[in-house]
Amino acid sequence: MLGILGGTFDPIHFGHLRPALEVQQALGLDEIRLIPLRDPPHRNRPHSTAKQRLQMLRAAIQGLPGFSIDTQELEREGKSYTVETLHSLRREVGATKPICLLIGADAFQQFHTWHQPDEILQLAHLIVMQRPGDSIPPTSDRIIKSPEPLAISPAGCILFQPVTQLDISATTIRTLIHNHQSPRYLLPDDVLTIIQREQLYQ
Ligand code: ATP
Ligand code: MG
Repeated sequence: MLGILGGTFDPIHFGHLRPALEVQQALGLDEIRLIPLRDPPHRNRPHSTAKQRLQMLRAAIQGLPGFSIDTQELEREGKSYTVETLHSLRREVGATKPICLLIGADAFQQFHTWHQPDEILQLAHLIVMQRPGDSIPPTSDRIIKSPEPLAISPAGCILFQPVTQLDISATTIRTLIHNHQSPRYLLPDDVLTIIQREQLYQ
């Protein structure tokens, strides 16, 4: 099974990395691809360049087995839509391999506003990275209670996967740096080194 996690990653931090690693291990995903967005449809443009975000991603996953970076959204013109990325992944991996789209519980709240959400669920399973003990999610017949069904269909299930919830956001990190405070221990040291070298978020 292939897992994907899209984001601006401006910068990538432990709130992305630790839950993604836990999902990889819990579901037995052989691969997780981090997919940096070029031009997020729902928000302002990133504060760092695509090249800088890529450098930070590479530093963050250095030596982490199964993790890779997929640059297709950076290379595609115009807005990044997850549904297009999934169509392109389907062309690459074929119709039958399960694809698991990882999203945070906050992003899941907005999922119905995404471009073609039904089509997304035709193309991938949705793995919602959930705080353990969070309130019961809205009912849908797509929701599964354990990971087993993911492996036997290519798409269409929604799984709420408990992960260690780290209350870290890229916004907090950018604000700390802007205020001349250290964001250390919220993100990998190697990523912070790049932020300092490139004088980002000041
Ligand atoms: P920003 O503060 O700039 O919005 P962010 O920290 O939310 O950045 P994004 O790149 O917007 O990071 O998030 C990419 C994906 O990672 C989204 O699906 C989001 O829900 C998820 N995510 C981000 N932070 C966390 C976190 N601390 N725990 C779990 N999931 C997270
Ligand atoms: Mg966000």
